[in-house]
Formats: sequence, C-alpha cells, structure tokens
Amino acid sequence: MPHISCSFCGRRKNEVMLLLSGIDAHICNFCIEEGYRVVLEESRPKRSNPEERPNFNLIKPVEMKKYLDQYVIGQDEAKKVMTVAVYNHYKRLMQPPSADEVQIEKSNIIMVGETGTGKTYLARTIAKLLEVPFCIADATVITEAGYVGEDVETILTRLLQAADYNIEAAERGIVYIDEIDKIARKSDNPSITRDVSGEGVQQALLKLLEGSVVNVPPQGGRKHPDQKMIALNTENILFICGGAFDGIDRHIAKRINTRPIGFSGTRPLHDSLERAHLMRYVSAHDLKSFGLIPELIGRLPVLTHLEPLSREALRRILTEPKNALTKQYEKLFEMEKIQLVWDDTALDYIVDQAMEYKLGARGLRSICESIITDAMFELPSDTKVKKLVVTLDYAQQKFGKSSYQLFRSVA
Ligand code: ADP
Repeated sequence: MPHISCSFCGRRKNEVMLLLSGIDAHICNFCIEEGYRVVLEESRPKRSNPEERPNFNLIKPVEMKKYLDQYVIGQDEAKKVMTVAVYNHYKRLMQPPSADEVQIEKSNIIMVGETGTGKTYLARTIAKLLEVPFCIADATVITEAGYVGEDVETILTRLLQAADYNIEAAERGIVYIDEIDKIARKSDNPSITRDVSGEGVQQALLKLLEGSVVNVPPQGGRKHPDQKMIALNTENILFICGGAFDGIDRHIAKRINTRPIGFSGTRPLHDSLERAHLMRYVSAHDLKSFGLIPELIGRLPVLTHLEPLSREALRRILTEPKNALTKQYEKLFEMEKIQLVWDDTALDYIVDQAMEYKLGARGLRSICESIITDAMFELPSDTKVKKLVVTLDYAQQKFGKSSYQLFRSVA
C-alpha cells in the first residue's frame, strides 16, 4: 500500500497530527491552518483608497474629558493632556495628504504614575469612547530579536486580534505599553556590555513608535518561516506608554534643586514638596536620567503624570464611577434578589486598608472581594435573606478573618 501523505505539502502521515481524506486527496493539519489563514485574509475588507481619509466622529477634548470623568476619578491634569493629544492625533488622521501643507506629527503619550492610579484605565476608557481597537502590552516580556522572549512585533499581533484582523481598523488603534520604566537602561554608561532587557528593547520599540511598516505574525509567537506575515503601518497607531518610574522623584528633586530658585534663605524646593508633588515637575530630562534613551523619549512627545490616589479619591472610586465597585456588587446581589447596602463606616474601613497596603485603587477590589466572598458563596442558596448590610463590624470580621494573610502575600 502506498504511503499516505498530504496532497498539498507532501508531509507523510507520521509527520503530522491529523490527515483528512477527501475523494482523491488528503490534507494535513498544517495545511488546514495555513488555508484558514488565507481564507481569513481574503474575506477581510480590502484596503480602500489610501488617499481617502477616515471619517471619524471626532470628539472634542472637553467632551472627551466629561466622558472620562464618569469613569476615572481625579487625574484632571492627565485627562487634559491626554484628551488634547488624542484629539490632535485623530485630527492628524483626518488631515488631507498634501506635500506642501504643514504635517502634524504624531503625539504618542507617556504617563508616569504609581501603580493602580488609573494609567491603563484611562487609556482603555479613551479607546472605548473612540471605538477604536485597543490592546495592552507589557514591556517586560519583550526582548530584542533573537533573544528568548517575545518579539516586539507581537504587540501588534494583539492589536490585530483586537481589531478582528481588520488591518485598517488596527492601523488607527491605540496600544498601551505598560511597565515602560522596567526597560530603562540599567547603567548610565551604555558602552560596557549589551543590555538585553533594557536598551535593546527600547531600540526595538523605536521602529513601532516612529511609524513604519512592520511585518506582524498574525498568530503571534516567534517569527516562523511558514507563517504569512501581515504588513501593518504603525504611522497612525497611537502609542501610550505607562510606568511607575520608582525613584524618579530623586532625579526630579536633583534637577529642580540645581536651578536657582526663589530668593536666598528659601528652603530648597524639594524639601518643601512631598514626593507626590514632585511628580508634577517630571520632564523628558528626568526620563533620560532614569534610563530611557533619548530616541525613545523623542518619540513620546506628550508627557503627563498621574497623582497618587488620596484617601478621598479612593473613597470616591468605591462609589462614584459609572461602574464603581460597590455598584458592581450591588448588581450581582440584585440578580439574586438581595439588596446589598454598604455602610459608610465600612467603606471608610476599606479605604483605610487600601491606603495601608499602598496598592492604589487596585487594592480596593481585593479587599471588597475578601469581605463579600462568604456572602456570595452562601446567600444564593439561602432564599430567606433579602437584604445584606455591610457594616463596619461585618467588614472587619470578614477581612480580618479570611484574607488578611492572603492579602498580605499579594501585597
Ligand atoms: P495602573 O495602570 O496605573 O497600574 P490601573 O489603571 O490598572 O492602574 O488601575 C487598576 C484599577 O483601579 C482600574 O481597573 C480601575 O478599576 C481602578 N482605578 C484606578 N485608578 C482609578 C481612578 N482614578 N478612578 C477610577 N478607578 C480607578
């Protein structure tokens, strides 16, 4: 009996995972996958005339901020800077192409702010408002080509996936790159050795940020010779980078202090300012001292900072935003026909705990979860209970008992 093999690639049965038989032919799993990709690509809307400008429902900065205010508490400065940058970015997309006109440059954004202050949330909320594809990438998993880790192009794979492989939509999407501070150059002297995780990755990012055609592996992963690449132009993709930049306050303080300020006898400026307030003065120069290379900083011209969340802000985050945590739990209980009520004292207690663990708004969720989990476990099976009031006592007892240790380990 002759060897059975794939009629498309010739691989033998023992070389493949699956071999389907047709009337006169066979097809292996590799060729099925490849064929499926071709089908996806062919069924995609074709690129329209590049001369045609996309028609956006352009939302003005003030309206954009009003929308953001419904979800993101505080951070007015960052909201203002970002809405203007995003507005300009999309105005730029609508600019008719013309050689002699003033060309508006791209306004990629970099945000500096402690973890859990809303950097990702702001970027995500803006993308939702504009109805453009959005993805989040982590700078720490990217490595220079050739090293173990993800190639920088896989960031765009995620964007393509978020756009359902619609290239045109992806080409005007928003990419949020988190933990950009973690790829800072470790040493001030770039000449010593090659810095795989830091500077090399920054270099690799440049080509995405500056606007060029990048070959993207549609399924992610390492570039594979068999994989058909999708060419994506990053010129109109808005990149927003964020990082905590722990310790950048020292660079800011140093820089501010070197300038002649005030009149003689004034205390040095950084003495009178708390660390949080120093962040307001963050500049490109500080990013450079921190270890970002000038070329990268140059491609992220809009710089803004997020304030550490105060006790008041955390308290508001619990109840005010459209999808505030307490509202989410209330809804979950409502579906069980149980009324959930939070006492003010319990909410204050949650905020106190969140402040203590210094996890920003991120901590609120874990604390609420540990307080309410027992009830979420038991009450759906208890038809007699129609109302649950989370009092200070209840909160203290549940948080203290069940998850203190767990939470400590997370923190
Ligand atoms: P970061 O990216 O700064 O580390 P995130 O944006 O991921 O922080 O914030 C974590 C979560 O905390 C968000 O999903 C959001 O629910 C909440 N959050 C953070 N900051 C705010 C804020 N200013 N207003 C409302 N919710 C916030």
